[in-house]
Amino acid sequence: MISISKNRCVGCGICKTMCPEGVEISEGVAEIKNENQGCLKNAAIACPQKAIKEIEQDLLFAIGTNDDETIKSGGHVGMSKYFQLWEYSGGELTFKEKRENTKYRGKDEGVYGDPGKAKATSAVLTGIGVLVGKMFGPNIARLKNEFVCAVIREPGIKKATEIIKENINEIVEKYNKKERAGITLK
Ligand code: SF4
Repeated sequence: MISISKNRCVGCGICKTMCPEGVEISEGVAEIKNENQGCLKNAAIACPQKAIKEIEQDLLFAIGTNDDETIKSGGHVGMSKYFQLWEYSGGELTFKEKRENTKYRGKDEGVYGDPGKAKATSAVLTGIGVLVGKMFGPNIARLKNEFVCAVIREPGIKKATEIIKENINEIVEKYNKKERAGITLK
């Protein structure tokens, strides 16, 4: 699937020149018009912002929450009661399951940087590529070895899933790096 990052695109139109059948400019940013055009590869190479990317892999996201409506606030993501698991595939983000955070709960709030907590979070989140939270503690140094740690300040999960889709190029770039860093998404 070909994706264009709205955050990176500056609407210069070079991609449309390179691939008029595959791209259109709408409200100042490029959009894919027809994904099956071979010239999209040339458009991606020519884009000065590196905004056009082919995303091949599926990716699983875990969003920490206590109430299923909002991202956990008032504490670190590892202390979420649950994780909502969402799968990115073919340009869509689909809810897959709700996983209980069985390892750590209330009594561990306020304990920061414990290696055991990072290990426990990793154990609950096997198979996850991106961990999404409002706040990460010192354990982000450990967690980022396992996941892309994505900070989203927006409270609502629904809005957060839109933010994830808008930033998917940057997330995949981080995911594919051996040394992953955290990322703040807006
Ligand atoms: S070339 Fe890149 S920056 Fe320019 S309009 Fe196309 S996607 Fe946007």
